Amino acid sequence: MSITINSISLKVNSAQRITREDAAWLWNNAADEDLQRLAGTVRKRYHESDVATYLLMRIINYTNICVAKCDYCSFYRLPNAKDGYVRSKEYMFQKIDELIAEGGDLFGFNGGFNPQLKLDYYVDLFSSIREKYGDSIEFYAMTIVELLYVARLCKVSVAEAVSALKNAGVRWITGGGAEILSDPFRKRHSPLKYTVKEYIDTQREIVKQGLNTTATMVIGFDESLDERLDHLDVVRDFQDETNGGLFSFLCWTYKPYNNELGGSEIPKEEYLRHIALSRIYLDNIKHIRASVLTQNANGVKALSWGADDFDIPWEDEVTQKAGAVIEQDIEKVLGYAAEEGFRTVYRRVARAPRPPLKQPLESRA
Ligand code: SF4
Repeated sequence: MSITINSISLKVNSAQRITREDAAWLWNNAADEDLQRLAGTVRKRYHESDVATYLLMRIINYTNICVAKCDYCSFYRLPNAKDGYVRSKEYMFQKIDELIAEGGDLFGFNGGFNPQLKLDYYVDLFSSIREKYGDSIEFYAMTIVELLYVARLCKVSVAEAVSALKNAGVRWITGGGAEILSDPFRKRHSPLKYTVKEYIDTQREIVKQGLNTTATMVIGFDESLDERLDHLDVVRDFQDETNGGLFSFLCWTYKPYNNELGGSEIPKEEYLRHIALSRIYLDNIKHIRASVLTQNANGVKALSWGADDFDIPWEDEVTQKAGAVIEQDIEKVLGYAAEEGFRTVYRRVARAPRPPLKQPLESRA
């Protein structure tokens, strides 16, 4: 039977999974309205149609020294570079305190493959944070690729590294460093950043030890449709295999400034279509998150294309160096969601309840 919008709609409406061929057909042929409608149908299985969740978070870049040399990266500095850095704990505590004062509760620690930082550096850093802040905040400790690098550097197994971090109070190791989970893509752009198998084996260990993890994706380099579908297949299969080990799927877009690869940004509409396709294809993932960090107002628009959650990022040097412009006006970002017809609810990640804000959002200047 040939693929048509009707054959795919029948599947989606009856909660049947679409195939990779269906996904390719949708990407190449479906009208925007059809993609939105189908994504809305899958979204409705998990979420109220007019509600979106959001959170306030900050990426803390603890070092910019990295030896992976990905050609799309605008952030890294090689060891001995004059502007290379490793941040002090005090510097990072101050960053945490600043966001707490704004009402945020989630932090992501992201650096690079820094040969000077061994596993004990991370254990010390994360246990100090947990000791100082307890359950009043939550943090994403490293990305999967940073974890794998440190394990190899220190000649310990991934299982041992995960266990050491867990004992230090780590609860989340997110799926960063995925970009496109297709080996031909990784060979072209980031040959030192591990194969798909190495990546997934590491993530499997994280789930096995009971830590939380997520899926991420970055589009807009030079990846083919096949490579994008490879990525979605890897994520969907992993979610099946681990019976829901991934909390969410977040996709953002490549920023082409100040790096070796260069190029240009993809059109806004392409991002929205990709979010819709991801929502339809990843039928086993509850949360599809939109990227305000790289798409600003268009990221919030993705709520009408199947996304249900977004964060308001306070800082992320990696994407800012590559051209991202961060919007810190919280009301303005929430206003975009209201314009799309969504009621927004804060999704707190920290275990302790959110303390009353010193200054309610509505009354801020
Ligand atoms: S993307 Fe990450 S791993 Fe690659 S060079 Fe930049 S900091 Fe290093």
